[in-house]
Amino acid sequence: MLYREYGTTGKKISLIGMGTVRLQPDKASFSKNVALVLKAIELGINFFDTASTYAAGTAEKVMGEAIKQYGKHDLYVTNKTMLSMDPTADDVLRRIDTAISNLNVDKIDFFHMWSVLTLDQYKKIIAPGGPYEGALKAKEQGLIDHICFSAHCSGEELVQILNDERFEGVILGFNALNYRHRLSGIKAAGEHGLGVAIMNPLGGGMIPRNPDYFAALKQGGESVVEGAIRFVASHKEVTSLLIGVNEERDLLEAVKAIENDNNIPVEQWHSIANKMNPIDAPLCTMCDYCKDCPKKIHISRQMGSYNEYILSNKNEIHFHEWRKMFCNSYPFETVDCIKCGRCERICTQHLPIIKRMEEINEICGREKEKQEGLLKKYFPDSGYPKTAIYGLSIDAETMLRASVTLYGHMPENIWFFDSNPAKWGTKVLDSDRTIHQPSELRDLDIERVIITAKKYEQEIREMLKDYVKDGTIIDAL
Ligand code: SF4
Ligand code: SF4
Repeated sequence: MLYREYGTTGKKISLIGMGTVRLQPDKASFSKNVALVLKAIELGINFFDTASTYAAGTAEKVMGEAIKQYGKHDLYVTNKTMLSMDPTADDVLRRIDTAISNLNVDKIDFFHMWSVLTLDQYKKIIAPGGPYEGALKAKEQGLIDHICFSAHCSGEELVQILNDERFEGVILGFNALNYRHRLSGIKAAGEHGLGVAIMNPLGGGMIPRNPDYFAALKQGGESVVEGAIRFVASHKEVTSLLIGVNEERDLLEAVKAIENDNNIPVEQWHSIANKMNPIDAPLCTMCDYCKDCPKKIHISRQMGSYNEYILSNKNEIHFHEWRKMFCNSYPFETVDCIKCGRCERICTQHLPIIKRMEEINEICGREKEKQEGLLKKYFPDSGYPKTAIYGLSIDAETMLRASVTLYGHMPENIWFFDSNPAKWGTKVLDSDRTIHQPSELRDLDIERVIITAKKYEQEIREMLKDYVKDGTIIDAL
């Protein structure tokens, strides 16, 4: 294993780190997940990325069990707080206490302000009484070592955040497809002396799913995944690549990739990446040359989401997931393109941007109709029973946001519940409502439960038997 200095912290981090978001969340997989962490340690990995919601709230405990068995030694663990979950300093202190207990550690090595999408969000994070203040207090109390952040901003926005010199490390999405978009940010992070951990080095699975498209990354007979990992690792500013691990093969392939390094210089990797763009379905390279749209549309992020649409064989669900991440847009939110053509005249890839924007609006229009139908079905004007929304899945969040956007308010007669203790008491969608624990279902006299997390529907149905009163309607979104 290769190790690199994490910024100026004095800590040496393995070039391959383990992400825990993809661990199987069911109870039966717990010991297998612990074994995966122990295998990673055996392979020389000492950097583990966790968060309270990863693997449906089980990731921290998996890591905690592995630490109990192996010891903390020279392992470094990250954890995170998100503005929407922990808007105040006190919320963050509570989050850290819980994480320390779950992880079986005395302190968290790298604590992140999670998923900063815009400068506006950043300002809320650093405002007096906000999450950053909570992290500073935790650092003073010796509960965390380093304050870091993770971001989906453009290179320029990142530079502005970095210029404030508040952080010691950053997690960024960076890969062979979006590298132009993020390169300036990664370089700036390196220049400011930050540790740089990379999420999505495989483009969120897009690269392994499209091996033919990305075949040029295969240099010297290795797999496209190995090439993609070496592409990222060739950037000297990068401290560690976080590989989302689901099975042992994920670990072995990533570790093999950096052991086989055949020293291709970074400039050569860039020229390889620049050639991977056929004429029949050109992809946006997220270079941001088109950034001055008169309607303030973030074109590269819309087109980056459209990339995912093309590469997933026009899978609309996949498109919405990426658009949410890139643009912070809900599926029913259209773009206000006035077809001025400015962006097309300067697009480096000659993309039919206006046509793609129209297609995006068609997809979003279909989603708007779907949301209107769901709201009518579950919350008709004629009235509906006192309802619990169980597990705020992305589908449920989308429906409730659609209600706010289309009708100006959320359905009134609803309460929120979740099985994950990390979510109890946290705020729901910028409202004053909070998430309750299942034991409160009876006290609140709930008459109907809508389970929104399809994956756990059976498990939740079983569990609810102990918590709801007779006659409660159990529904699923
Ligand atoms: S064509 Fe649309 S997206 Fe392009 S610059 Fe004009 S308004 Fe913006
Ligand atoms: S739309 Fe064209 S100019 Fe704009 S970011 Fe994508 S490739 Fe670059």
